[in-house]
Amino acid sequence: MATLQGRVISEGMVVAPVFVYEKFSLDKLNYEAGSADEELAKYEDALKVATSQLKELFIKALKELGRDKSLLFEVHQMLIQDDDFKDEVRNLIKDGLDAPHAVQKAGQTFADMMLAIDDDYMQQRALDFKDISNRLIRILANVESNTEILEPAIVVADDLEPSETVTFPKDKILGFVLRQGSANSHTAILARGMNVPALIQTPLKQNSVKTGDTVILDAVDGCFITEPSAEQLAEYNDKIAKRKAMLAELKQYLNGPSLTKSGKAIKLYNNIGSLEDIKSVLENGAEGVGLFRSEFLYMGRSSLPTEEEQTKIYTKALQALDGKPLIVRTMDIGADKQVACLRLKKEANPALGKRAVRICLDDKRLFKDQLKALLRASVAGKLSIMVPMIISVDEVRQCKEILAECREELKAANQPFSENIPFGIMIETPAACILADDLAKEVDFFSVGTNDLTQYTLACDRQNDAVAYLYDDTNPAVLSLMKMVAEAANQNGIWAGVCGELASNSEITSTLISYGYTELSISPAKTPIIRRAIAKTE
Ligand code: PEP
Ligand code: MG
Repeated sequence: MATLQGRVISEGMVVAPVFVYEKFSLDKLNYEAGSADEELAKYEDALKVATSQLKELFIKALKELGRDKSLLFEVHQMLIQDDDFKDEVRNLIKDGLDAPHAVQKAGQTFADMMLAIDDDYMQQRALDFKDISNRLIRILANVESNTEILEPAIVVADDLEPSETVTFPKDKILGFVLRQGSANSHTAILARGMNVPALIQTPLKQNSVKTGDTVILDAVDGCFITEPSAEQLAEYNDKIAKRKAMLAELKQYLNGPSLTKSGKAIKLYNNIGSLEDIKSVLENGAEGVGLFRSEFLYMGRSSLPTEEEQTKIYTKALQALDGKPLIVRTMDIGADKQVACLRLKKEANPALGKRAVRICLDDKRLFKDQLKALLRASVAGKLSIMVPMIISVDEVRQCKEILAECREELKAANQPFSENIPFGIMIETPAACILADDLAKEVDFFSVGTNDLTQYTLACDRQNDAVAYLYDDTNPAVLSLMKMVAEAANQNGIWAGVCGELASNSEITSTLISYGYTELSISPAKTPIIRRAIAKTE
C-alpha cells in the first residue's frame, strides 16, 4: 500500500481499476528500413493515413467534447501538411535517415523552433508537433496506440499528448493519474473538459501498478492510493457516497456573498496555479482569487516567461474574472518548486535557502519583469500584488522600492497602469508573525501561508513523509502565531486572510473568523463547503 501526493487538475474521487498506458519508444522498435526511395514512399503513405485519422478524431472530439476542444485536431491536420515540415522530413530521408527517425528529428526541430518564439500560442504548438510526429511514427512502425480500454478505468501514464487523451473511449475513463504533466497543458484542459478526477506530477514509480489493480484516486485532497487495504476501500466508498450527498446539499452554497450568522461578510476566494483554473473559480462561486501561484508560469519550460508573455497572462486572468479581485503572488521559486532554466545552485536545505523573495531581491531584473507585467495588466481589473516568504521590514521596503522603480520606468515608456494596486505580503515565517505589527504598517494586507508557517514553526519539512506525523497546521503554536497576526492587522487597519491549506478546513473556519481573519482563500472545490461553514459561524 502506498499513498502518493499529486497535483489536482480536475476534482473528484473514485475507487476503480487502473489502466496503465505506456508510450512506445522509437529505440525499441523493430523497424526494417528500406532504400531512401522506399522510405520516402512509406512516409507519403503514412501521411495519408495520419491525415484521415486526424479527420476522424476531429469529428469524434466535436461530437463528444464540443467545438472548442475539437479545434486542436484541425490544427494538427494543418501542421502535418505544413510544407516546411514535410520538406524537412523528405530531406532527412534523402540524407540517409529511415522514415521514423526522420519524422522524429523533424518533429523535434519544429518543436524547438516553436518554443523559441516569444508567443504563448506558438509555444503551445511545440507539443502539437511532437504529437503529430508520434502519430506518423506509430503508423510507420505499425504500432497500435494502446488506448483500447475495455472496462471503465483510471488511466495511469507518464504524460499524455492531447490526441492520446481524446483517443481513450470517453465512457470508459474514470480518471487520470500522470507522473508528469502541467496544469496548463492541453491534456489538462481536456481532462477537465471530460469532468473526471485527475492528478498530475504524481511520484508513482514505474511498474508499481498494473492494469486491473484496484486503486483510490482522491482528486480533492490530491492523493493516489495503490494497493488499498479493505479499511481504506470501505472508508473511500463511504467518502464517495457522502461527497455525492454533500454535493447535492451544497448547491445552495454555490453563490456568494459569504456571511456569518450575524451578517459579517468574509471574502471567500480561491487559490489557482494557472489561467485555466479560473473556470473552476467561477463554477464554484468564489468571490475572487486570493492566491495565484505565479511560479507555475516559470516551471517546466526551457526559457523564462518574458514581461510581455506575463502581461498577457495576468491580463487574461483579470478579464476572465470580470471585475472580481485577483491577488497574484510573485514567484515563489525554490525549495520544492525548482525552475530548471534559472540554474539555481543545489542546496543542502532548500526550504531554508534561496527561495521566493530572496531570489527576487538578488536578481532584480527577473523580479522587475514580473512586477512590470503585473503593473501593465492592472488596468484590466482588480489586481493586488503579494510577496511570499517575508522575514523582515527591510525586505518589504526593498520590494516596494523596486516596484516604485518599475512604475517610473513604465511611466517613462508611456505604458499605462493602475495607480491603486494593493500591495500585501504572505505571512509564512515565524519571523513575520513576530514582526506583524511593524510589517502591517508597510502593507495593505496580510495573507497567512499556513503550509509554510507550519513547517517553519514546527521545524518539520512539509515534504518529508518521515515527519508527517508532526506536521499539523492546527498545532496550538501555529494557531497562537496566527491569532497574533490577525490582531496586528486589525490594530493597524489592514485586512488579514489565510491562503494556506488550513483555510480549507471547515472545522477551523469559525476559529479563524473569531481571530479576526476576513478573507479565506481555498481550492475551488472547497468553496461551497467553506461558505456553508461561514454561514454556520456565530
Ligand atoms: C503556504 O505556504 O501556505 C502557501 C499558501 O504557499 P505554498 O503552499 O505555495 O508554499
Ligand atoms: Mg508558502
